[in-house]
Amino acid sequence: MSVEQPFWHKPLTQMTEQEWEALCDGCGKCCLNKLIDDDTEEVYFTNVACQLLNDKTCECSRYDTRFNYVPDCYKVTPDNVGTIAWLPTSCAYRRLHEGRGLPSWHHLVAGNKSQMHKQGMSVRRKVLSELEVGPDPDLFGFIVLWPLDDLD
Ligand code: SF4
Ligand code: SF4
Repeated sequence: MSVEQPFWHKPLTQMTEQEWEALCDGCGKCCLNKLIDDDTEEVYFTNVACQLLNDKTCECSRYDTRFNYVPDCYKVTPDNVGTIAWLPTSCAYRRLHEGRGLPSWHHLVAGNKSQMHKQGMSVRRKVLSELEVGPDPDLFGFIVLWPLDDLD
């Protein structure tokens, strides 16, 4: 008798759109403003979040129409996931692309998102909105290290 494997064990390119969307852990880290060193391509996360991010739910407040408000929001796909250097190492898409599997705190494994928030793997209550910070802030002063955290 064979046991059916969970869908996130499939190759990314074989997932349905619904499965692909369900993989997102909803951490909100990818919605933080980032600085990228032109020479080294090193990524520095800040605690300044996109204007559409809800810092309690860690979700986009206008996900379906977000490109109308934030044209440079980026859609992660199975084809481009391997090329996006600024995805945090804890990102479910990045983890699966790198063959690391989903962590124990991911909602598909844990059953809900509370472990992610409890273990500090989301942006919940740790960020400012770019609307609060104002136009053209000096983002160097907002660099934070916690988005680099990754736990299995
Ligand atoms: S970092 Fe990855 S898993 Fe987390 S919200 Fe962004 S796309 Fe989803
Ligand atoms: S538009 Fe929504 S999904 Fe895109 S960066 Fe902003 S909060 Fe995140």
